[in-house]
Amino acid sequence: MGVKTALEWLSSCSGCEIAILNIGEALVPILTEHLDIVHAPVIMDHKYFGQCGDEGEHLQIPEAVVGIVTGGVSNEEHIEVLEEMRKKCQVLIALGSCATQGGIPALMNGQDSEASFDAVYQTPSTDPGATRPDQGVPELLDRTYALDEKVKIDLQLPGCPPNPAHIAEVIISLLENRDPVLPTKSVCDSCPTRREGKGEVSKVKRYIENAEFDPDKPVSDMRCLLEQGFMCMGPVTAAGCAKYGAPSCIEARVPCRGCFGSVRPKGNQMLDMMNALASNGIDFTTVVDRRSIQRFSGAHGNLRPKKSAVKEEV
Ligand code: SF4
Ligand code: SF4
Ligand code: SF4
Repeated sequence: MGVKTALEWLSSCSGCEIAILNIGEALVPILTEHLDIVHAPVIMDHKYFGQCGDEGEHLQIPEAVVGIVTGGVSNEEHIEVLEEMRKKCQVLIALGSCATQGGIPALMNGQDSEASFDAVYQTPSTDPGATRPDQGVPELLDRTYALDEKVKIDLQLPGCPPNPAHIAEVIISLLENRDPVLPTKSVCDSCPTRREGKGEVSKVKRYIENAEFDPDKPVSDMRCLLEQGFMCMGPVTAAGCAKYGAPSCIEARVPCRGCFGSVRPKGNQMLDMMNALASNGIDFTTVVDRRSIQRFSGAHGNLRPKKSAVKEEV
């Protein structure tokens, strides 16, 4: 009998679930010998009401040793599901940057949640007379939250999507009753690019021009993209994406966009990036869309509607 495991997804794109599948061959023994999946709406026909033998009005999830939750918390239903997962799972894991720092759904934190609702239901592509549905749609919260803003989380595994090797490590470490071995440093710390010190560029270059590099040479021959003047968020972003040596985007010769979230727990990527740019002699005010720096970490109060965002003036 394997370890009872429950999976849930909240405001999620299912990319994190694909990352679990991308563990590949190693997933087969994990699933067939070690885990007993008792609940997973992404792959099972699942009933929230009645599956535990209680036909009551409250949502129910079976008891499990391990719970894995993806996605941010954007509406009342997400809170109900998350609280039930917390109640029923001994160890609760936040998987993916949406769950750990708000991720993509927390982009809506940059505007009033009512405006987001209207943007979804009343776009020019809908019937001009379209109105908001008035039943069957859970109430939106005032903003999207990371899981640890609502319940206690035992283990955070960021990434958009997370690295499959690290998901496997977390599962195996739990089975072996030990702490997982995961990266703790920044993307820069795993980046092999050539660093020569402060660059010669004082304005942020937009990535509509290519970086300078020789395609016939390894990535270690390319000069650091930040030193070339590009907004590479490696200094402020948690490491973990490197699958073939270099961080994934750097391997492709494009700047890091920050998808593993802040390297500091609950850190603010925008403030940290201001420092990183200043250290490289680059004027932060030349970043075209400064709020986009928080595109993967808009929970924890980092991204707010403009009128109340004092830091917007920065
Ligand atoms: S972290 Fe990325 S891959 Fe995972 S649910 Fe969020 S948007 Fe999708
Ligand atoms: S700033 Fe970007 S290119 Fe430079 S070392 Fe860090 S991750 Fe690599
Ligand atoms: S380099 Fe940055 S944006 Fe690209 S996958 Fe890694 S953490 Fe994400």
